[in-house]
Amino acid sequence: MHHKDLTTQHTVRRTAFLAFNPPAISEAEIEAVVETLRSDWITTGPRTAQFERDFAALLGVNGALALNSCTAGLHLALITLGVGPGDEVITTAMTFASSVNVIEHVGARPVLVDVEPDTLTIDPPCVEAAITPRTRALLPVHYGGHPADMDALLTLARAHDLRIVEDAAHALPAVYRGRRIGTIGDLTAFSFYATKNVTTGEGGMLVGAPEYLKQARILSLHGMSWDARARYEAGGSWFYEVLAAGYKYNMTDIQAAIGLVQLRRLDAMQARRRAIAARYTAAFDELDAVQPLVERPDTQSAWYLYVLRLNLDRLTIDRDRFIDELHLRNIGTSVHFIPIHLHPYYRHKYGYQPDDFPVAHREYHRLISLPLHPGLTDADVDDVIAAVADIAALFRR
Ligand SMILES: *Cc1c(COP(=O)(O)O)cnc(C)c1O
Repeated sequence: MHHKDLTTQHTVRRTAFLAFNPPAISEAEIEAVVETLRSDWITTGPRTAQFERDFAALLGVNGALALNSCTAGLHLALITLGVGPGDEVITTAMTFASSVNVIEHVGARPVLVDVEPDTLTIDPPCVEAAITPRTRALLPVHYGGHPADMDALLTLARAHDLRIVEDAAHALPAVYRGRRIGTIGDLTAFSFYATKNVTTGEGGMLVGAPEYLKQARILSLHGMSWDARARYEAGGSWFYEVLAAGYKYNMTDIQAAIGLVQLRRLDAMQARRRAIAARYTAAFDELDAVQPLVERPDTQSAWYLYVLRLNLDRLTIDRDRFIDELHLRNIGTSVHFIPIHLHPYYRHKYGYQPDDFPVAHREYHRLISLPLHPGLTDADVDDVIAAVADIAALFRR
């Protein structure tokens, strides 16, 4: 960034920089980690098993598989469903690379489609238009925590015999028409990456039908017929068999110890996220230079992100300059996401043009993710609102 070039007469309201999305770690998580380190079991063991049970109970599902990332969960989901070379998987252009990389990892072809303008989630009519005889699965992403239009996708999946793998990295806890995300598609993967609503530093969770989870569990630890816990516990057997050339995707008890505390704090943390989002939306609805995303009726977003769209025709500056101006006012931001088809690997491999996905491309140029995490005070939120209003007024067209 070249802040030295900026010569506006802004008022820096904050003296301390407001970080974009720091993790919400309390003393309880720190104590839980220390307790784990003092125990004689630090990798996959009793705490991981408890974390899986607590997570499954939270969603009201039968089981859950703790992993070292959401990416691992998406990868195992595709393998478990038998997606491979010759198959196509339809996903959204407006996502993080890992949703699409995993399709490449199994040797299938990712087929990108555009997003709906109000939520930036995958657009069902575009999905329908992209279905071919080779399509095996749909991979929707609950962008920013807002559920994709699952009923429309389920209808398409039934009509064309497709599986659904949900990228729910942003969507803990989110609700779609009375159903929790994690209870709808064939398999759903959540992320506990450092910035996500629940964090374990790095980590992920896969949920879905028991027969799928059983296979994914075997694949998650070298393809072994027994997990390490069963082998080393008193009464456990030394014997195991390798049933597949599996992966090294297991979660550690150190991570699970953090996750167990985070799950207990989730309701309170979510209440704070919702309150902050409501405060932002009430303020930004009054400004004609910006446009919040929509939370649709019948859905509850997990509010992982607070995404603002700039109305560029009301401003004399572009999005990048708007971000620089926020930075000058000590407000940290991010952009979610650079659409997949603009990244060199995918652009070159599949010959995408920028406007192949016109909504994703247009929206990308006016997106800013503002700070949204439970640690924000009302004064912090007011600082962000004031900074946005200040910039909008200063650069009004
Ligand atoms: C964070 C993220 C992931 C990856 O999660 P990891 O746990 O880091 O593997 C996948 N998809 C989306 C949309 C994400 O934002």
